[in-house]
Amino acid sequence: MVLDNDFRQAQARVDELITLLDRYSHEYYVLDRPTIPDSEYDKLYQELLKLEEMYPALIQQDSPSQRVGGTLLPGFEKVEHDLPMLSLDNAFDLEDLRAFDKRVRQLVDDGEVEYECELKIDGLAVSLKYANGKLVQAVTRGDGRVGENVTGNVRTIKAIPLKLKRAVTIEARGEIYMPKSSFIQLNEEREEQGDAVFANPRNAAAGTLRNLNPQVTASRNLNVFLYSMVQYGDLNVETQSEALNSLDKLGLRTNPERTVFHSIEDVWTYIEEYQEKRTSLPYEIDGIVIKVNRFDEQEQAGYTVKAPRWAIAYKFPAEEAKTTVNEIEWSV
Ligand code: NAD
Repeated sequence: MVLDNDFRQAQARVDELITLLDRYSHEYYVLDRPTIPDSEYDKLYQELLKLEEMYPALIQQDSPSQRVGGTLLPGFEKVEHDLPMLSLDNAFDLEDLRAFDKRVRQLVDDGEVEYECELKIDGLAVSLKYANGKLVQAVTRGDGRVGENVTGNVRTIKAIPLKLKRAVTIEARGEIYMPKSSFIQLNEEREEQGDAVFANPRNAAAGTLRNLNPQVTASRNLNVFLYSMVQYGDLNVETQSEALNSLDKLGLRTNPERTVFHSIEDVWTYIEEYQEKRTSLPYEIDGIVIKVNRFDEQEQAGYTVKAPRWAIAYKFPAEEAKTTVNEIEWSV
């Protein structure tokens, strides 16, 4: 087979991008010590997606576009998720959102959709299992199929109840994060002690939750917002908003800033509003997650290997004023 020059060049670039992205993912997910800003990672990843779209023959099984997250830390028991914990596709502007809306409307039966918008909390994903109302297991997302058993550490987080208000058997998922004020205080203490500081609240949260010593987790202020329920027990829920309301009633913490909209233009107004409010929130957000609200329509839209087709994460543009990653000494 004769390969033309463009294809050869694309092939070389794809290989290069996969090597780079793998390295950055290892630093981000395994070491909790990124060496480039997320916006930079996102740019390279979008370049890879574009090349793979132009040349589907170049899609490799181990491409970051075909898998979730990173490899797992040694020292924690590995647990297989009953249902995979997926990633989210990204949108960067209104045009991307309109394209998402168009795709969704083509996939659902009646072409009518309502969207629930939620803040995209910048922390790390965790699955919580409750049996008869008692917390029995907490697992990180890991590579999406298998995660790390962090039950001992999660038990030390005061915002996560060990016992629910009702004796239900459910699995809830959400984001563990470190509030901005706790992050600043932690870094001040570390600086005084001559320890390396954390790059951002996400890294601090990840390093704290995936610490082999639960006393370290207990000594730092982690918090949680639950954002989904994947096993419902005897609860009768048909939409994402009902699921979150049920979690509230059970005593699990959800983020109150959520709203349901019927058009993507209204979704955009919500995005613009939170882009403004972002800096005044007591926790970091890196975007807005837009989800088809009805579960039957979510099923109709379905999934790719990596992400649901019924949701998308709008990513805020990079914040200019932030300390650049190179100015920080990194900590695990
Ligand atoms: P993602 O961060 O784009 O989105 C998926 C995650 O969003 C979920 O797993 C969940 O943890 C989180 N989330 C927060 N609030 C949520 C809500 N309300 N509903 C649903 N989910 C919510 O995807 P990802 O696969 O976790 O990570 C990819 C991103 O990580 C990249 O876009 C990049 O920004 C960053 N990254 C950075 C580097 C780096 O070197 N800087 C390396 C790898 C990845």
